[in-house]
Amino acid sequence: MKILCPRCERRIKPTQSDGLTGSGGMLIKRLMERSDPHYVCEWCGKIPLDEFPDNVKRWYYIETYLMVVVLLAAIGIVVTITVITAQID
Ligand SMILES: [Zn+2]
Repeated sequence: MKILCPRCERRIKPTQSDGLTGSGGMLIKRLMERSDPHYVCEWCGKIPLDEFPDNVKRWYYIETYLMVVVLLAAIGIVVTITVITAQID
């Protein structure tokens, strides 16, 4: 999804939306940042989510939801591997 800055109308770099491919630690860090919803424009700096149109706001929350799902899936895989390994011993 293309996100345009509401102030300068230039494209916002997807520094946050690449969280799905990030490591678990990065994912947790990014999720914690979500308590202060914003995007960072290269030219204007930090812009609160309130200034963006509704479709961007919706995307932001979908993205957050996906990150939580990925994180839970990753935890599930680790727990499963740990349980299986413990049974082999
Ligand atoms: Zn801008």
